[in-house]
Amino acid sequence: MELLSCYKVASINRACAVVQSRKKGETRGVKVRHPKPLRPMICIISGFFVTMKGRLFVPLRRDKYFDLQLNHHVIRTLEGKRMRSLTITPDSLSFCYSQDIEEARVRTVYGVDRNEKNLTFGDSSKVVQVDMAEVVKVKQTTREILGSFRRNDVRVRGRLARKYWKRANNRTGQLLHAATNIIVDAAVRDGAALAIEDLTDIRKMYRKGNGQGEDYRFRLNSWPHRKAKHMLEYKSAWKGVTVIPLTKSETYGSSSTCSACGEKLHNPAKGDVAHARMLWCPRCKVWMHRDVNGALNLSERGLARFVSSHPQSGEKEESRSQASTSLVQAGEEGLAGEAMRGNGTKTLILRVDASKLIRRVSRRIDRT
Ligand SMILES: [Zn+2]
Repeated sequence: MELLSCYKVASINRACAVVQSRKKGETRGVKVRHPKPLRPMICIISGFFVTMKGRLFVPLRRDKYFDLQLNHHVIRTLEGKRMRSLTITPDSLSFCYSQDIEEARVRTVYGVDRNEKNLTFGDSSKVVQVDMAEVVKVKQTTREILGSFRRNDVRVRGRLARKYWKRANNRTGQLLHAATNIIVDAAVRDGAALAIEDLTDIRKMYRKGNGQGEDYRFRLNSWPHRKAKHMLEYKSAWKGVTVIPLTKSETYGSSSTCSACGEKLHNPAKGDVAHARMLWCPRCKVWMHRDVNGALNLSERGLARFVSSHPQSGEKEESRSQASTSLVQAGEEGLAGEAMRGNGTKTLILRVDASKLIRRVSRRIDRT
């Protein structure tokens, strides 16, 4: 039987991907393992179509189709989108679609500070902290549950570990979705770009042999930085929010220098409970919250980067140049200028709890 061309293309594509990843592994020095059977899956980019009434037709052979009815949710989601590909696995069917997103005009830059306790974002006019302490708590509980099992059987323990960690990751994923939705929605509303820190290699700071306690390392390593960043990036892409990825050299010292004057900040004395997670600026003579300060620094540096990479485009594009001039002004005299001596604590700080917002956020998503 003649194989349809769309399936030929799909299998060639897949084979190329396998060879490519193998080559990549070789250049990186990864030892080539024995080839394993690939998971049954096929991804076709042509040959299939969806009718007006939402019936999907998948080709079997020439002029012979398999068809099935898509549900209302899928039909509504695919409305007005360009279909890219269809992936079929033994138990799932997924579409890949694309959509033109108009990039929103940037009026301000929000720095996003990810840390163990919360996600903080904002600029010099407003800072919002999303409480994420629950994430670490979920992970710690899971660790305790697994530690409490006494059965001396590696296979059973492995199975239980998989089960409980899957559950933990589902729960933290929910929290992260809620928090990142808040951030991206705020950015859309306020016309803000998001300045995100590069946190690769952060795990190297808390590795075995660094002289830290096991519990401490676990706590700091359990925060899913990469996942949060990934969520922010793809959600921003869908909603036309500009993301400014800051490099390590750009964010150097962002958590230890004063966002108002640039002075090196001092940690509170040991046992100073009143100023936990606060830092003292000797020049401004104020205590400032370390996460808020970090977010403000990132916002400022993101703005500097945005302004330098979008120089005044002149008179050609009216709207664009307006946007960039207003930004340049903000960069030169507005934001950076406003954040003068003693102004560090005047920023309005809002605090929200991600775990309490999940229900509201998910309902809002259902409606849209
Ligand atoms: Zn200062």
